[in-house]
Amino acid sequence: MTDRPVPASPDPDDDTLVVVRGLTKHYGDFTAVDGIDLTVPVGQVFGVLGPNGAGKTTTMSMITGLIEPTGGTISIDGFDLKKETTKAKKATGFIPDRPYVYDKLTAFEYLRFIGGLYKMDNAHIADRIDELMTLFELREWSGNLIESFSHGMKQRLVFCGALLPEPRLLVIDEPMVGLDPKGHHLVKSLFRSLVEEKEMSILLSTHTLEVAEEVCDQIVIINHGRIIARGTLGELRLESGETDGNLEKVFLRITEESTDERDHAVAQRFGKTKADTEAVS
Ligand code: ATP
Repeated sequence: MTDRPVPASPDPDDDTLVVVRGLTKHYGDFTAVDGIDLTVPVGQVFGVLGPNGAGKTTTMSMITGLIEPTGGTISIDGFDLKKETTKAKKATGFIPDRPYVYDKLTAFEYLRFIGGLYKMDNAHIADRIDELMTLFELREWSGNLIESFSHGMKQRLVFCGALLPEPRLLVIDEPMVGLDPKGHHLVKSLFRSLVEEKEMSILLSTHTLEVAEEVCDQIVIINHGRIIARGTLGELRLESGETDGNLEKVFLRITEESTDERDHAVAQRFGKTKADTEAVS
């Protein structure tokens, strides 16, 4: 695998929702994201995996427009995020790993506020709120202050808020955090219906490899700010040599190899031993 290059992201076409080219983020001298290329097709759940500090959250935050890239381009539903920011953001719903909600609003007020931000028609907002609160089993708490909600209820409310304006792209950082087994089940089947029936795409990052294995059509693995592997689980299995392995085995094999390669490159460049490089990394 080590001498095989990472396959390039396919060329964008009409069936592509997100195109990321050469995405880079520097923090001072440190490169958190190092020239990432991504193409997310319409109607797919696309998983971004990687060890702690790999650059997943930074990548997702740039795609959602929360932080400014140092370099590269991002296009969502045909809109350049830098030049047509509002249109690109309107096509995107974001669910962060921690539910940021306004505790002093009721669930209904919070969702109506989001609908207002997206300039949705009032009657449509009310219908959508009803539909989503029913789906996420929050309807009976619609008039309660959010501060009385459990973490999982807040997370379900954030799902309602992100889906309310009917975005084409849903970006999710750790989708299952705080959800109980019933919530897991709901979200997994929701993902399939969103991509298959509503022609949305979902870009998610997770450490829960069973979730990625169950829901993702395609996966990229990031390490040290770069994509080190991409493909379906079957393709990643072949690439890693773990042909019978579950995603955990495949992930460990691929990320270990990429770290070994980096250590080797550092050692060659600076004349250090592997033990030295481990001590500084
Ligand atoms: P995790 O799985 O632990 O959440 P991650 O893959 O999401 O990790 P990021 O949060 O994207 O990783 O961070 C990538 C690297 O960039 C890390 O080394 C992190 O310390 C660094 N980093 C992130 N944000 C900043 C910042 N604002 N200033 C400096 N360095 C940062």
